[in-house]
Parts: sequence; C-alpha cells; structure tokens
Amino acid sequence: DSKENNKFEGTWRLFKLAVPLHHDPGKDSSQLSDALLQEIAKVLKFPVASLLPREAFTVVRKSFDARKKLKEPKFVHTVEMDVQKLISLEPRCWDFISRLEPKVGLVEHVHDGKDFGDLASIIHDSKENKEAVLEGGNGHNGFSTELYKKQATRKPKIVVVGSGPSGLFATLVLAELGADVTLIERGQPVEKRGRDIGALVVRRILELESNFCFGEGGAGTWSDGKLVTRIGRNSGSVLAVMRTLVQFGAPKQILIDGKPHLGTDRLVPLLRNFRQHLQDLDVTIKFGTRVDDLVIKDGHVRGVMVSESTDKLCLTSQKVEYDAVILAVGHSARDMYEVLLAHNVELIPKDFAVGLRIEHPQELINSIQYAELASEVCHGRGKIPVADYKVANYIDKVFNEVSDSGVANRSCYSFCMCPGGQVVLTSTSPSEICINGMSFSRRASKWANAAIVVTVSTKDFEALNYYGPLAGVKFQREFEQRAAMMGGGNFIVPVQTVTDFLENKLSVTSVPPSSYRLGVKAANLHQLFPVYITEALKHSLVTFDKELPGFICSEALLHGVETRTSSPIQIPRNIDSYESTSVKGLYPVGEGAGYAGGIVSAAVDGMLAGFAVAKRFNLFHGDV
Ligand code: FAD
Repeated sequence: DSKENNKFEGTWRLFKLAVPLHHDPGKDSSQLSDALLQEIAKVLKFPVASLLPREAFTVVRKSFDARKKLKEPKFVHTVEMDVQKLISLEPRCWDFISRLEPKVGLVEHVHDGKDFGDLASIIHDSKENKEAVLEGGNGHNGFSTELYKKQATRKPKIVVVGSGPSGLFATLVLAELGADVTLIERGQPVEKRGRDIGALVVRRILELESNFCFGEGGAGTWSDGKLVTRIGRNSGSVLAVMRTLVQFGAPKQILIDGKPHLGTDRLVPLLRNFRQHLQDLDVTIKFGTRVDDLVIKDGHVRGVMVSESTDKLCLTSQKVEYDAVILAVGHSARDMYEVLLAHNVELIPKDFAVGLRIEHPQELINSIQYAELASEVCHGRGKIPVADYKVANYIDKVFNEVSDSGVANRSCYSFCMCPGGQVVLTSTSPSEICINGMSFSRRASKWANAAIVVTVSTKDFEALNYYGPLAGVKFQREFEQRAAMMGGGNFIVPVQTVTDFLENKLSVTSVPPSSYRLGVKAANLHQLFPVYITEALKHSLVTFDKELPGFICSEALLHGVETRTSSPIQIPRNIDSYESTSVKGLYPVGEGAGYAGGIVSAAVDGMLAGFAVAKRFNLFHGDV
C-alpha cells in the first residue's frame, strides 16, 4: 500500500555506525570504507556487505570517539541511504529494507530527500527562473515552497551595519533577492586588517577600528573558526549556511565532521570570495566607515549618520537615507549601545559569563584524552584530531568555607576551547584587557586554551552599583580595566598558575611559557573578581580535574580576563518580522543583539533576518 511504499522514497539516516580507528581509511571523511559498509550491512541485516552499492550511501557525519571506557577508539558515522537508488541498483535489498521500521533503533526515515543546497546558488537559480526553488523538507527548520516573483517597483535601499557573519549573510540574502544593499563596516578589509593585527601583535599598536573584533568578517575572522552550534546541526538553515561557506571556499569536510572548524588561514580567503560575490551582486561595501548615529523620525528609522572610522571626533558625519537598517554590530560595539539608549530603543540586560582563559601544553591535553594514543596525533596531520575538551559544573550549594552566598546556583564551564591555538588580545580600547583564543586550520601550535567562565546576572551587576540597560557592559569593563592595571599596561596580561590560584598565592618563581605574544605578568588573580566568581572557578577546576585527571598542574596557566563570552544585552524584536519592538525599520541581528552566540548561529540569524526584511519589501514570498 501507499504507506508501505512511502518507506522506499527519499532518504533514510543510519546512526551510530562505529568503525574502529585501525579500520578507518584516513582523513577523507566522505569515504565509504569496507568496514563502514560492513556496519551498514549489519543494520540492514543484509548478508553480503560487498553487494551493497556504495553509490546509495553518503556519509553525513563523522566524529572521533576516544572515551576511556571504550576498548578501542572509533569513528562514529551517520550515513544517509537513498532508498530508491539502493533498490534500483541492488533489488535484493528490497526484502531487507521492507522489514525495517523507520524511527526504530538505528534507522530513521528523515525527510523526502530535498534540501536547501547552498544558499547563494539556490537564490541565484530562483532569480534566473523567476520562481523560487526554495523548498523545505519535512521537519526542517527553514522555508516552505513559495513562488518568488521579481517586483517591478523601486528596489528597497537597505543598509547592513557590520560585516560579521550575521551582517554578511543578511547582505547575501537581500542582494540575491534584488534589494539595493549597502554594507558598512567600521573596520578594514581582511588584507589591511591582517596587517593591523600584525602591528598589534608585534609592535603593540592597537588600531581602535581594525583589530581582533572589528573588520571584515567580524569577531570570528582571526579565530579558531569552530563551526559547532547548539541550534541544530541538521536544520535546513544551518545546512544552508555551511554549504554557502563551502561555496566560498571552505573544505567540504565541514559538512561531515562532528566538530567542524576552519582556522584563520581558511577564513581569510573565504571572506575574500564572499566579498567578491557580494560585489558581483552590486552590493556597495564601505570599509573604514562607522555608523555614528541613527536617523529616527516618528518612531521610524530613516537612515544613518556615517563617518570615516579614523575620524575620532566624527566631524565629518554624513546623513545617508535608507528604507531599512539591519544592525549587525556584534557585542563589542559599545558605542552603538549608547546610541540606541539615547534614542530610547528598548534594551534588556542579559545574563552572560566571565572568567579566565586557561592554557595547557597541547601534548598534556592529548595524553589526558587519548592516553598512549596521544603520540599518534601528529600535530593535526594524522587521522586522530588534536584533542579538545568540554567541561561544565553546576554549583548548587555554598561551600562550607565560603560565606558569600552568591556563589551558589551558578554554572561554570569551558568556552571557546582552541586546541593547538593561541591566546589573543580582543580589547577594543588600550585601557582594557580582554582575551580570547584562535588557531590555524591544522591546530598545530603546542598549546591548548579555553575560557573557564562563570555565569553572572543582573543582581551581580547591581552588587557593584551598576544599574540600567547597560549595567552588564559596565560590569565587563570593570574587570577589563582591572586586568589592564594588574598587567601593568602595554597589553601585558596578568597570569597565575592553576596550582597557585587554588592556593591563593602569587606565581613568582616559575611562570610557565604562554602562547600570548604581548607578554604576561605574574599576578594574584584572586584580586580580579568578586569572591563568588573566584570560588566558583576554584571549585570547578577541582571538579574538572576529576573528569580530566592532570588538568590541574603547575604547567596550566590562567590568563585574565575573559568577559565577552556573549552579549550583555538583548535588543528586543518581533519574532516573525525581526523588526525592533521600539523603532520601525530597525532590524537588530546577530550576537550583539543577543540572538546568537558563535559564527554559525550569527550567520543563521542574519540569513533569516535577511529573508524577513526581503518579505517586508515584497522581494520574497516564502515563510521564514
Ligand atoms: P561580529 O562578528 O562581532 O561583527 C560585527 C561587525 O560590526 C564587526 O566587524 C564590527 O567592526 C562592525 N561594527 C560594529 N559597530 C559598527 C559601526 N558603528 N559601524 C560600522 N560597523 C560596525 N565563534 C565560533 O562560533 N567559533 C569560534 O571558534 C570562535 N572563536 C572566536 C575567537 C575570537 C578571537 C573571537 C573574538 C570570537 C570568536 N567567536 C567564535 C565568536 C564569533 O566570532 C561571534 O559569535 C560572531 O562573529 C558574531 O557575529 P556577528 O555578526 O553577530 O558580530
């Protein structure tokens, strides 16, 4: 019957297909090895694995699993099976497939085989065909099938402020759908930005408008380029972003790897290709240009005031009119938060997390995670990935020795772990120190770093007498300034070994080497944060050492201070239209608006906002 026959349409997903490390053929994740075919045959209960046609199977996910309780480390695969192809190539599979029940055990009937492909070419196709081919598969978080009809009316003039992942993807969608888009970025294009970052790292010159936070590609350009996200790896919108990145030069491997990452060396050329594509679509891109103010009349944004971002006094600010403003400025554009506040745009303080960045020798993390297998890591060249970790601790009660009850009911967790990376300066002002981590694609440096951060909320800001919508920003700044003072200036970072931090004593005799290029200075980091954060960090480090024995050691160095883990505010907007709840025509997107955390989620937010704005101007008739 038709219900039964439905089973033979579209794609099925086979999960948890494990291949022992020594049977894995090598780095190309898309290869279907004999061992993997054997595993597929086992799930299908098909007796002769070699008779299964390889063409019917596609590896869609491959993760390394080296948990200690396993007898042998393994690669765990998710494989898609094209049922029709399978049966047409090997009809004897019919009997076995017909006995399988979807959603039982290891097999799931996922969707009808349709997906979004890569965003740019799909939208481009739709323009050429004068109708959209955007189709949402069952259960996908994406856009439903709708006709796209080009409007004969005037093209809407839209400005996107900020060229981070959210701004770039909003620009891409709108330009592909026919809007007249201007992309304004206070920082420099990647070529010049690279030189500015070089001058910072080598000569201590911090360009206020071109640095690790500001410039083409946004905060994530000189980063580890991790593409992991908590918003659903297999959703249509995440896949559309990932495929678009592949179209602009990312390796196809990112579509399959369990923990995909790019690294700075891949991000820079990718952004150049992205820029070229936008220019081919007639997007006007203005680098070195800062939006200083919004032009708001009768509760409606009418445009922006811009100046050359080298002009600190904004004497040359010019008014430019637009039909809509997409604000994709990230969470370090604190001046833009002030502008929004001055215009009474609704801003809500948001919880975030602050803490320290811990750095270990990468070899130590490899040996904690892989034991004797660690020697096979080969600096990112071998089959085994450079080891990472992810730890979390919930502190539900006050410890005996601590009187400050503020320590309870907080989480402490590792964040933005960079295997084979380095600690970098992400300050946007010379009087503040804040740090983060980056790496290159091979993750070959001898260090492993990660932020260890503790959650903070409005009541913590108020305890330091910071009130109002920007209380969280003031809270961040307080610790960034303290860290700068403790380092003694010149971007020198205060550090303490983990063992000394636990004993509350200065690391005077032996400060281990750090990957941070601008210098470190021994300091007692207990003097940095209020006691509840210090105690939460201490308690959690001890817990993490139980999970990762050796994590606490004299070679592990804590660096101060990590404050910009996510946005300290949210700019409320309407769920469907993405428009600000307080000003018409203003579309706050990405991390700075409090709707994303990380490269992929920011890109997805920008992309969906792009569709919402396109819909508002009748350029797109689908659902977002
Ligand atoms: P942003 O990327 O911050 O972009 C905002 C842009 O707006 C900037 O380019 C800025 O110059 C511009 N801008 C601001 N104000 C103005 C103005 N007034 N006028 C004009 N332009 C303006 N995330 C991950 O997922 N994986 C990682 O491995 C990772 N590593 C990171 C490493 C580092 C060193 C840093 C700093 C961040 C890292 N992140 C990582 C976080 C990630 O970069 C951000 O989550 C992401 O970039 C947010 O994207 P966005 O578009 O919302 O904002």
